[in-house]
This record gives sequence, structure tokens and C-alpha cells, in this order.
Amino acid sequence: MNVHIPTLEQAQQLLQKYYGYPDFREGQRKIVASMLNGADTLGIMPTGGGKSICYQVPALLQPGLTLVISPLISLMKDQVDALITMGISAAFINSTLSGKEVNERIRAAKRGELKLLYVAPERLELDWFREEMSGLEISCVAVDEAHCVSQWGHDFRTSYLAVSPFVNSLPRRPILAAFTATATPEVMDDMIRLLRLNDPSVFVTGLGRDNLAMSVLRGENKRDFIMNYVTTHGHQPGIIYAATRKEVDDMYNRLRQNGIPAGRYHAGLSDSEREESQEAFLYDDIRVMVATNAFGMGIDKSNVRYVIHYNMPKNMEAYVQEAGRAGRDGEPSDCILLFSPQDIMTQKFLIEQNPQDENRKRNEYKKLQQMIEYCYSNSCLRWAMLDYFGEAHSREACGICSSCRDERELVDMTVDAQIIFSCIHRMRERFGVSLVSSVLKGSQNKKVLQYGFDSLPTYGMMRRRTEKEISELINVFIAEGYLALSEGQYPVVRLQPLAADVLRGQHQVMMRAPEHSAAKSAGTAAGSRRRGASYDNGPSAVNETVFEQLRLIRRDLAEKERVPSYIIFNDATLREMSTVCPTSEAEMLRIKGVGEVKYRKYGVPFLEFFQNME
Ligand code: ADP
Ligand code: MG
Ligand code: ZN
Repeated sequence: MNVHIPTLEQAQQLLQKYYGYPDFREGQRKIVASMLNGADTLGIMPTGGGKSICYQVPALLQPGLTLVISPLISLMKDQVDALITMGISAAFINSTLSGKEVNERIRAAKRGELKLLYVAPERLELDWFREEMSGLEISCVAVDEAHCVSQWGHDFRTSYLAVSPFVNSLPRRPILAAFTATATPEVMDDMIRLLRLNDPSVFVTGLGRDNLAMSVLRGENKRDFIMNYVTTHGHQPGIIYAATRKEVDDMYNRLRQNGIPAGRYHAGLSDSEREESQEAFLYDDIRVMVATNAFGMGIDKSNVRYVIHYNMPKNMEAYVQEAGRAGRDGEPSDCILLFSPQDIMTQKFLIEQNPQDENRKRNEYKKLQQMIEYCYSNSCLRWAMLDYFGEAHSREACGICSSCRDERELVDMTVDAQIIFSCIHRMRERFGVSLVSSVLKGSQNKKVLQYGFDSLPTYGMMRRRTEKEISELINVFIAEGYLALSEGQYPVVRLQPLAADVLRGQHQVMMRAPEHSAAKSAGTAAGSRRRGASYDNGPSAVNETVFEQLRLIRRDLAEKERVPSYIIFNDATLREMSTVCPTSEAEMLRIKGVGEVKYRKYGVPFLEFFQNME
């Protein structure tokens, strides 16, 4: 049999023609090649990594239809809009359509007029739909947000379990490809097992996107920081995540009172209120979205310039997913986590509130602990993140995270470390951070006296510091691997082998000066102690005016077409135009993100702008 396998070169040509991108990203190339070879494929890439292209481009090269399983209606609509704008025939079927519209789309698919069809997983459970699908030539089923199949994931959806029976019931089994940003081993196992991927090629790539400047700020006045940041970031779109509805409402009201066009989103609002504010954000009518983690899975908005976490999220998976909504277009963007120890209490409370089995609970506490360690980490935050997900990275620090930019001097903390470690040792490694701190502080609290800890030689040895400062210091030692916490609701601090070396005087502890000495004077906006701490990610002033004018042209087009502006061209594309100043069609087509169809549809007003500029 002479099977024709499309080549990677063909794929690359289509990428240029439709998307206007000259090259695949590293991970995309491997995934596309694997799919073109007909292998089941699992692609793990961060939010903004470019998962859609991984199945959309192969869809163009394969005969018949690619069926995309997508969890959210808004997500489907966005993707289909974007595809149609580029000149690719795609459609979705979901509950917003009438029966007549659904039938029309199925007929179009039967006539071979569609390359991609998006549906929610629930649809696979409907008999009539399965029947219709078995009459079609389906060459690939692509499962987006595939972590939803796993109970360990954060968005478990029962109907994702219907994917595998559906795929295997088809007259000819298509290739199955699954995509997600969640890379933990449990979730990976579940995806392979529950979707029944057949001997899949697995690709984990690019979690550390180098356009993202990660920061953790401890000891800031959170509200002042946010007011200040939002005000100094002009019209740039951003998301502020808070843990509770109440905090969302508070921050939202404060921003509004200060004349900042903000929107809010949480589960306490009506469907229509939520939809309205999501739309307004997508269309750049409002600039800042204040939201709980209920917001975001459906957001493919590419020009989000910052994501600020008002509170620490529950785990690294959630953090990376949420923070990763910044800078999907590859432009420099900020991911700022405002940490306070109170956040730990909130997260523990949430774990306890949620009825679940012990095994799962233990797992959540463990993940929470790892999140806390990230917040206290003194080393490069990108390393910390990649290490967490087990992705290899170079030994070169990122240079732009808050740890890398931290200019405070390294000081010798060996003596402090010895005092703390020795106290923990004397307390027999059976108590938590706060009791250890009380003892070191020399507190008279009931528990201290009850256990007779006031007679320990380390009692009161750190009385010049506050208990809060002492526990912060202990947390830094935990994050740096000298100490470890046991799992569970009331974790106990234990010494690690490295701590024993310190106690024996065999290891010197060098650390950044503890937070409290510098943070107080630093005030808002990360203060002066951090190099380049203005969080300025804007371009030079000259391009800025051109860029602004291009944005206005885009806005007009977007309003005319009733699509979000980034679907016309994203910020990265406008940015490149504003530096290159293309004055011919050929020059325009060389700009990343300007494909042939888009050029024909939208290119002319931009071209004319540059021609008139000359
Ligand atoms: P994900 O689904 O992984 O979160 P998307 O598929 O939405 O990410 O892609 C994120 C952004 O990256 C989009 O704006 C997309 O156009 C852009 N992108 C994807 N692949 C490339 C590429 N090869 N070159 C340039 N930009 C790309
Ligand atoms: Mg996606
Ligand atoms: Zn770094």
C-alpha cells in the first residue's frame, strides 16, 4: 500500500500561509511530526505555549475531519473565530446552537467542508451524535485541556471519561492526541490510562517561557502595591487573582473608585454578569479583571501583560496555569505573586472545608507545601518552577525573576541557622513552625510552658526578632532544603541532612538579608532593593506612538467585525509592525502573525498607515 505521509515541510508551509509564522516552536515541531506519523501523542506545554497549532496544522494535512474536544463554550467560539479569520474551515457544535444549526454543521462535515469540528465532551455521550460521527471520516481526535480527565487535576470533568469509548467505537480508530499544561506525574498517568492513549509519544516542553518575569513579593502592602502597579501600567490588560469573592469585590471597588476601568468575575455573580465582564475584557473595553480562579480557563486572550496574584494559589499547577495567562503572544509580561503567611491559613481552611478522602487531602497538603516553598525560594524562580515539574533547564539563571533581580547582599546566616536547627532538635522534631518560633522568641504562651520548653537552652535566643520574622526565616530554610515539613494539616518541622552539616559547622549558610530588614523601607512597587524593579515592560517611546495608532486601527476593525481585537492581529504582531514599518505587501507578509488570508482581510489599513507615514 502506498501511504502518503505529509511532511514537516508541508506543515511549515501551511504555518506560514495561514498563521503567518515562519517556524514552529521547538515542542510544536516534535508534536506535529509525531502526529503526522500517525502516533497517539500527548503534548504538555504551558499556557500560551501554542498547543492549538499542534493539532490544527496536522488537521489541514490529514484527510477528513479533526474532532476537537474542548471543555468550554467560550473557548470553542474563540478558537473557531480565530481559525475562520485565518481562512481555515472550522465550526463548533454546542448548546448555544439551534437544532437546525447543528444539523447544518453536521451536513457540512459530511460534505467534507470542515477541517476542524469543536465539541464539548458531554456531546460524546449522546447516542445520536455518536451515530452521526461514525458516518464521517475522522482522522484525528484532539483532546484539549486533557487534564480534565483526571481526578488529580484541578478541573475534573466526568464526561472526559467518555472520550476513550467514543474513539474506540468509531469504525476506524483515528489518532488520539491530548494536550494540557498540567505536567504532574499523577495527571500524566491518568491521561494516558483514562484516555487510553495507544503507546503514545509524550512531549513535555517549554514550561519556562522566557518572556515571563516571575516575582514573589513578601511583606508588601498588597492593596497599595496593586493600586500603584495598575496605575503605572496605563492601558495594558491584566488579571488580578484573589482567593475569595470578598477580596475580589473589595479590590474591584477600590480600582473603580480610583477611576480604573476594572471588571470582576467570581462564582457569586450571575451568569450574565460573568459573561458580560468576560466579554468586556476580551474586547479590551475593560483593562483589569479582578477574579477568583473561576475565571480564566476559557481565556485565550493573548495580550495580557500581567497576572498578579493577590493571594498564594493552592498549588504550583494552579499557579503556573493562571500566571501563564500572561504574555501568550510572547511579549514581555509580569507574573507577580503577593505572598503573606495569612494565605497559608486560607488555603488550609479551603482544603479542610472540602470533603474528600484522606489520601487526596494528604496530596493537597503536600502540594500546598511545595507552593509555599516556591514563595520562600531565594533561588531563580524559573528554576524552582521547572524543577517542580521535572523539566530540565540550563544552569543559567533567568535574570529577570525577583530572585535574580534581588540586589540585597548575601549575608552569613550560619549562626541564626544553628540556633533554629538546634531548637528544633531539642524539641525532638515534633512541632510546627509557630511553636518553634514561640520558643525561640521566649514566649510565655500556654503550650510553651506546658511542654516545659522555657527551660531549653535555645528558649528566647531570638528574642530581638518578632515571632513572625522567626517563622519567615524558618520558612526560608524549608524552601532552601535545610528543613522539611511533614505532610498533613499540622505539619511538623524536621531537620534535613544539610541542617546536620550546619550544626556540625561543616556548612556555611549564605542568604539574602532577611526580608524584614529591607522590606519595611522599600514601600510599594517592590521598592528600591530590586534591580529593574519598575516592572516596566513597555517598548521605547518612539515605537509606542506608532504602536498606539496601530492599536486604534485594530480596534476599529475589531468593532466592525465584532471579534476581540487580538483575533485580528495580536500585540506581538503589531509590535513587530511598529519596528519594521512595512510599506509593501511582501514586507507585510514577513511580519509574524500576518498570514495570507488575514493580510487580504485586514492588512490594507495597516499598510496604508505606513505608506502615509513616509
Ligand atoms: P495554548 O493553547 O498552549 O495555551 P495557544 O495555542 O492559544 O496556546 O497559543 C498561544 C499564542 O502563541 C497564540 O497567540 C499563538 O498564535 C502563538 N503561537 C503559537 N505557535 C506559534 C509559533 N510557532 N510562532 C509564533 N507564535 C505562535
Ligand atoms: Mg489552549
Ligand atoms: Zn531567575
